Amino acid sequence: MERWNPEAFAKGDLSWVLKRSDIVLERRRRGTCLLCAGRPINEAALCDVCMTMLNREELGLVETWTAGVLPD
Ligand SMILES: [Zn+2]
Repeated sequence: MERWNPEAFAKGDLSWVLKRSDIVLERRRRGTCLLCAGRPINEAALCDVCMTMLNREELGLVETWTAGVLPD
């Protein structure tokens, strides 16, 4: 069990990452959270803990993922 993933992203980069469908889809395939590499994750590749820390812009981007709309 890895506790920290070197490919985990900084919180400040999250809004950028959520617009990169290639990155999000890859993390969904691995099943690890974008920010903390924890599990389980939702459609935006974020775990429940990290979901509680999102700001309004990030939540809006997550909603597009949970709605099944992939950003280009
Ligand atoms: Zn997380």
